[in-house]
Amino acid sequence: MIGICPKCGELTNLTRHHIYPTRHYNGQYSGDRNILKLCRSCHDDLEKMIPYKKQEHGFYRAIIKVFLNGTTVKITFWGFILYRLFVKFHN
Ligand SMILES: [Zn+2]
Repeated sequence: MIGICPKCGELTNLTRHHIYPTRHYNGQYSGDRNILKLCRSCHDDLEKMIPYKKQEHGFYRAIIKVFLNGTTVKITFWGFILYRLFVKFHN
């Protein structure tokens, strides 16, 4: 799945991070609303911030806000055109 990592801006093969971990919320949260797409390296960084033990429910969305805070990739017009072309020729 080609896309832009919202953390670092890499055009890359994105991985799927489950916002509410499947190990704690199996089947309870499914579909795209529970998915944050990140590059492999940012995904690993985010996972390091999430304790293995189950946290309070609000933790899982809060940690993503902290993780992405101030780093949201701003895509320029030409960046967007290049991105569309990139996606078109890689899918
Ligand atoms: Zn990244």
